[in-house]
Amino acid sequence: MMECELLENCGFFKKYAAVNEKACANYRETYCEGKGPVRKECRRKQYRDAHSAPPPDDMLPNGKMLFS
Ligand code: SF4
Repeated sequence: MMECELLENCGFFKKYAAVNEKACANYRETYCEGKGPVRKECRRKQYRDAHSAPPPDDMLPNGKMLFS
């Protein structure tokens, strides 16, 4: 299955991929690479669809905000 079309430009990974490689790899596998039904539940994607704008970089794929 194809990965999320937004992955290359996803602000969350751009900001945090180097900071916390392991956590980001887990999020990517779970949400972005289509391994399991949870992919459809990416809150970052849902936010973008609802607001026609990208979510804050600090929003996790599960919808929680870092540093809030
Ligand atoms: S976090 Fe969500 S929006 Fe970003 S690349 Fe992964 S599935 Fe797509």
